[in-house]
Amino acid sequence: MRIFSGIQPTGRKHLGNYIGAITQYVAGQDRGDPAIYCIVDLHAITVPYDPSELRERLYDTTAILLAAGLDPARCVLFRQGDVEEHTELCWLLAGVTAFGDLNRMHQFKEKAAGQRELVSAGLFLYPVLQAADVLAYKADEVPVGEDQRQHIELMRDIAARFNARFGEILVVPEGRYPEVGARIMDLQDPAVKMSTTGGSEQGTVFVLDEPKAIEKKIKSAVTDSGSEVRRAEEKPGISNLIEVLAAVRGAASADIEAEFAESGYGAFKAAVAEEVADYLAPVRVRYEELRGDEAALEATLRGGAEKARAMAVPTLAEVRAAMGVGPAG
Ligand code: ATP
Ligand code: MG
Repeated sequence: MRIFSGIQPTGRKHLGNYIGAITQYVAGQDRGDPAIYCIVDLHAITVPYDPSELRERLYDTTAILLAAGLDPARCVLFRQGDVEEHTELCWLLAGVTAFGDLNRMHQFKEKAAGQRELVSAGLFLYPVLQAADVLAYKADEVPVGEDQRQHIELMRDIAARFNARFGEILVVPEGRYPEVGARIMDLQDPAVKMSTTGGSEQGTVFVLDEPKAIEKKIKSAVTDSGSEVRRAEEKPGISNLIEVLAAVRGAASADIEAEFAESGYGAFKAAVAEEVADYLAPVRVRYEELRGDEAALEATLRGGAEKARAMAVPTLAEVRAAMGVGPAG
């Protein structure tokens, strides 16, 4: 079972990333052979950014992932830009990707709408690079949050179309979505997902927030005017907090509802606030220990890139040969 997933470089990883993706990465280390995790600097350049900041944020994310429990001895952790096979495969796969499919991607539409100066072609091609990330490793499984479902479907279509045209070379991967917490919503606007680039500051709990800040954000989460702690379509704020607590405890949402059936919103929010703060505190402490040693972070990434390249190079050789690119092998 090969597992692959990618995450964007930022120091502002949030509770949605943590619950939806990072905890799955940590668990994947026991099932993956190997489990491969990539910090996607090449994806981050599709929206405005500062080049010197990018490297800093990449180290931030590396340290967050290690603090959360990724162990370079049990997984392959690397930086996307270190393995050039990703970009080459992106171009090769662009030849079997339908323009119309890319045009239908929700993430492109949402992120394009948020750009003031330039909607880059990179933003449009983002899902093809993402497909290349996964397909280069012939990964079977891709742990992601619910927002990535459409991109996973697209990469499955790309792999299938490639195989139909050039022979059975690529593995058609499966998305893996957590049962609880696959889509954590913004605390101030529970109609939109908690997000790194969109979303509100007050509605986003960052992994590196101080416990006090976390408690304040959760206690001031927007909820409806009712008083019952239960999941319902007309109660998106409370439903979201139920899901958050269930995910943090590793419990079922129904158990949370039963436990808080007699409490009001105030007591419930206070409990969620305290438990989320306790849940993230050790990660922040470990992060502080790791982040200062950039040489060690760089060495970890370099070691990961070597292992990653050893897997991606043979796939690219097969793909190039099948497509008739370059000299005959
Ligand atoms: P952006 O909003 O800029 O795309 P992001 O918050 O989605 O940033 P990514 O690095 O793109 O961050 O996503 C990393 C992983 O976190 C992906 O697997 C994604 O599906 C997951 N994820 C992102 N937001 C949420 C959320 N609100 N709930 C659960 N999982 C999420
Ligand atoms: Mg995202």
